[in-house]
Amino acid sequence: MQDLIDNLPELAKDKHIENKKFFAKLKKKPPKNLDYVMQDLHDNEFKKTDCLKCANCCKTTGPLFTDKDVERIAKHFKMKSHQFISQYLRIDEENDYVLQSVPCTFLGANNYCSIYEVRPKACKEFPHTDRKKFQQISNLTLKNVAICPAAFNIVEAMKQIIK
Ligand code: SF4
Ligand code: SF4
Repeated sequence: MQDLIDNLPELAKDKHIENKKFFAKLKKKPPKNLDYVMQDLHDNEFKKTDCLKCANCCKTTGPLFTDKDVERIAKHFKMKSHQFISQYLRIDEENDYVLQSVPCTFLGANNYCSIYEVRPKACKEFPHTDRKKFQQISNLTLKNVAICPAAFNIVEAMKQIIK
């Protein structure tokens, strides 16, 4: 797994043009059953992929935190939302709350998330490969294939299935 993670930025770079063309075509004419196809590909990939052996998303990129996430996680720490924000978050260029630093502060030993039960929505949904109308998040996916080995494999499998 670590070899794949280390080589992923290079592998994703090699596939970038091919992937961009594929997603441009997909956006124009998505198959009617795309949601089902994606659910299958996602489920099959995550049967094989153990996120606890990876955690590359938590190590290299942080989630954005919605107001609800902030409220929930602050409550978990028995903090006021503003205290939580000033201790852990900053506002990024798109005006979203993000972590002050990566790897994520909440990433614990053995790749366990120390706030798993209350983790941000974006963490729960990453890498979004079971998202409905998947063609709408192609730009995000083009970036995620360089971070997430599962997303990389899912996109490779998509290209085999959807011609
Ligand atoms: S979601 Fe992707 S990047 Fe994150 S731990 Fe799982 S396989 Fe790794
Ligand atoms: S909150 Fe948990 S799941 Fe989300 S990035 Fe941090 S360690 Fe990973």
